Amino acid sequence: MDAERLELIPLLLAIQDEFGYVSEFAMQFIANELRIPASEIYGVVTFFHFINKKPKGKFIIRLSRDMSSIMKGAKSVARQLRNDLGIRFGETTPDGMFTLEWTSCIGMNYQAPAMMVNNEVFSNLTPPMVHRIIEDCRQELYAHRPTVGNVGETHASMMSYSSHELNSGLIRAIREMTPAEVIGELTVSGLKGRGGAGFPTGVKWNLAAKAEGDVKYIICNADEGEPGTFKDRIILGKYADLVFEGMTLAGYAVGATEGIVYLRYEYTHVRPHLEAALAARRQANLLGRNILGKEGFSFDIRIHMGAGAYVCGEETALIESLEGRRGQPRNRPPYPVEKGLHGRPTVVNNVETLATASCIVARGAKWFTSIGTERSKGFKLFSVSGDCARPGVYELPWGMTVQQLLELVDGAGAKAVQVGGYTGELVPAGEFGRVMGYEDLGIGGSIIVYGQGRDMLEVAENYLEFFVEESCGQCTGCRIGNAKLLDGVHRLQKGTCSNRYLNDLIGLSHSIKTTSKCGLGQASPDIFIAINEHFKEEIMARPVLAA
Ligand code: SF4
Repeated sequence: MDAERLELIPLLLAIQDEFGYVSEFAMQFIANELRIPASEIYGVVTFFHFINKKPKGKFIIRLSRDMSSIMKGAKSVARQLRNDLGIRFGETTPDGMFTLEWTSCIGMNYQAPAMMVNNEVFSNLTPPMVHRIIEDCRQELYAHRPTVGNVGETHASMMSYSSHELNSGLIRAIREMTPAEVIGELTVSGLKGRGGAGFPTGVKWNLAAKAEGDVKYIICNADEGEPGTFKDRIILGKYADLVFEGMTLAGYAVGATEGIVYLRYEYTHVRPHLEAALAARRQANLLGRNILGKEGFSFDIRIHMGAGAYVCGEETALIESLEGRRGQPRNRPPYPVEKGLHGRPTVVNNVETLATASCIVARGAKWFTSIGTERSKGFKLFSVSGDCARPGVYELPWGMTVQQLLELVDGAGAKAVQVGGYTGELVPAGEFGRVMGYEDLGIGGSIIVYGQGRDMLEVAENYLEFFVEESCGQCTGCRIGNAKLLDGVHRLQKGTCSNRYLNDLIGLSHSIKTTSKCGLGQASPDIFIAINEHFKEEIMARPVLAA
């Protein structure tokens, strides 16, 4: 692995901070300095949404266009922005002050609509608020409104985390347990990865521990890009120490000395808080050499910023990005636990998984297995947004039905619920008796409630626009097929989709699923299939051409 390359993305972001964008001259200069072909630099620059390829305004306004934002008024906010700035989305004002863009979900769904102005986040927007923010920017008064840990009036129950005695898991492990015993505790607990894939955490740690290699890595996947998910941001804001404790435990268990938090660019505002927490841990000898006096156990953590690409939430794409490449998923095997970052054994765990691992080591597997169901142990955090009166983060035991969850969040009477984000499953009202757990709906944690009257074609259009935008382009089915499905939705909206063409598109949906390399393409057609299966009458209500 060429060392220069590792610095590529941080270098590109630093150039952008200085000059506002990465010019072709800068790319050529970097290519010469790092001895990397200019075409590859260009490939990286053009891959990430948050690396500017051309000059932009002093204030870059990015309005989130996830479904929760759309449902809560993002379109009227967009109108206000267009009117105030006199430009369309994708344009910059002639005086160079403002650039206006749509962006994918920024993790503020329960306070939607929301937007970023440069790296600051503004939420619960209304048109008058937007007008004031623009005026403040014009007068350069724009006040910092940090949102870290700010859950406002929103419900946020995280009982297991708030009652955790800080570092008690790490202290127990170092003083009383061997690395193998830590892995054993995790394995017996039945904890599965909370990012969505659900791979058993103890098994993952064990594979990495047994893998050959004197250098190993622990990566915390904080690239929380699944639309509708915001729990990881709140964990990082309120319980960062729990996550760092979990990473250190993983380091102890598998024999790693370096941890990396891969933080999505949209969460730049959380970084100062995380850096301060890391500094305090170093001060307290919870990171560094001979941690808590344990001879020979050294571990430290650094933060690496993502640059805006949903697919980097996939662990091999994340590793590619960390190595200074386009964030495109790799073929597996080999899996990261054998050959990950720089070809070394690497554990990639989600934020929630690591925080939960700390609680388990502190309290024991028995505590965890006493919660949940036979096949789904413990609790899970759910990010709830959309048409409900009590959006927010909920810590719940596995095994609840969708209906029970809806009652809790005051969303009863819903038409459908998207469980697991856009790559999850659309559950119609007739199936609200289904169980949230690996035996049925084993989900990543995003719940979007759709009330009666929501247009399911608009929902499908929104999802497919997202997938078209975020496809990395490696697989033909995903790259071209999703665009075809989006076109099919547009035809359905206009009433110009024949039955035959609709059937062709359903066939195409299944092909995309089977020919795609990663979870994005494997799940992206599900919304098209679901609206045809559950809402056929509604989507065919518009005049449709005969076959
Ligand atoms: Fe890229 Fe889509 Fe293929 Fe995933 S399925 S590797 S996002 S083209």
